[in-house]
Amino acid sequence: MKKTIKVRHRNFGSSYKYTVGRDILRNEISKAKNKYRKIVIVTDETIDSLYLNDFENDFEIAKVVIKPGEQSKSFQTLEYILNEFSRFGLKRNSLVVVVGGGVVGDVAGFAASVYMRGIDFWQVPTTLVAMVDSAIGGKTGINTEYGKNLAGAFYNPKKIISDLIFLDKLPEKEVKNGLAEMFKHCLIADKKLLDGLIENPKSLDSVLNSAKVKIKIVEKDVLEKKERKYLNVGHTIAHAIEKDSNFEIAHGQAVAIGIMLEAQISYGLGLVKKSDYEYILAGLNKLGLETDYTIRNFESFIEFMRADKKNAEAVPTFALVIVPGKKIAVLEVSIDNITKILNA
Ligand code: ADP
Ligand code: ZN
Repeated sequence: MKKTIKVRHRNFGSSYKYTVGRDILRNEISKAKNKYRKIVIVTDETIDSLYLNDFENDFEIAKVVIKPGEQSKSFQTLEYILNEFSRFGLKRNSLVVVVGGGVVGDVAGFAASVYMRGIDFWQVPTTLVAMVDSAIGGKTGINTEYGKNLAGAFYNPKKIISDLIFLDKLPEKEVKNGLAEMFKHCLIADKKLLDGLIENPKSLDSVLNSAKVKIKIVEKDVLEKKERKYLNVGHTIAHAIEKDSNFEIAHGQAVAIGIMLEAQISYGLGLVKKSDYEYILAGLNKLGLETDYTIRNFESFIEFMRADKKNAEAVPTFALVIVPGKKIAVLEVSIDNITKILNA
C-alpha cells in the first residue's frame, strides 16, 4: 500500500512526487537503474547499520556514509561527499539518493545542488520530522562557524519517498520531535487530524496528512513569504530555547515548549479563547510531549528572539494560534508584553 501526491513548486516551475508507503524504497531504486547511469546513496552510520547493509552486495550502487549528528552539516562533510561523488565518477545522468534525517538531507541535498552545478537527487527521509517537515520545501545547507544554515540553496529533489520501514527503529525521542511538528501542522490546518495522530502517529495517513500541510504551504510560496510564516507556530520561542539551552534541548522538544508558551502569549493578549488555549495544552499532553522548561537566562532569551532574522524592527514576531486548525496571525509582540505574560 502506498499513496502518492504531486508537489508543484510554482516558483521553480517544476514538480515532483511525494510518496509514502511501507517497504517501497528498494523497488523504487530498482526502477531508477533503468533511467540513471550511476546511483549513489548518501546516509549516516546509524541508518546504514540499521537498514542499509544489504545494499553492500549491490555492485551498481555506491554508498557515501557520513557521521550522524549536527556536526556533519559542515564544509568538511560537504567536501567529503563531493569528492566521493567524483571518485565514483558521478555524471549529470547519475542519481543521488539521500537517505536520512534532517542532517543528512541538508548536507547531502546541498552537495547534490552544487555537484556539477546540480544533479538529480531523491530525498528519502528516515525520521518523522524529516518525513513531514524538513525534506519538504527544497531547503538544503550547512552551518558555518558563524551560525546554523548560513550556506545553502533552495534545490528540489526529483522525488520524496517516505518509507515507513525506517520508523520501526526510530528512537522514542525522535518520534516525539516529529509529533511536535505534526501537532503544529494540525494547529495550522485542521484540528480533526489530531485524533488520528494520537492514535497512530507512525501510520501512512498520519504521515501523509501532516506532510500535506507543509506541501500546501510551500507550494504557495517557496521563498519565505505569507503562509510560509504560519509554519513558524511555536518556533520563535523554540529557536530561543534551543540557544538558551546551549542546544541541549532538541528542536522538536523546543517546538513543543514553544507551542505551549506561545499559546500562553496568545491567551495573555486575549487573542485566543480560553477553551482553545486549553485545547492546545491538552493536545500536547495527549501526544505525551513534555513542556517543562526553565529559561536559564531570560535577558539573553529575549535577545535571541529580537535577533531572529525574520524581524525587521527587532521586535519579536510570532505566528500565533487564534483559532486552532483555522486561524493563525503573524504579529509582533512587545518585549514588555512577552515579559509580563511569561513571568505571570
Ligand atoms: P532530524 O534532524 O530529522 O531530527 P537527524 O538527521 O539529526 O534528524 O537524526 C537524528 C538521529 O537519529 C541521528 O543520530 C540519526 O542517525 C538517527 N536516525 C535517523 N533516522 C533513523 C531511523 N529511521 N532509525 C533510527 N535512527 C535514526
Ligand atoms: Zn521545526
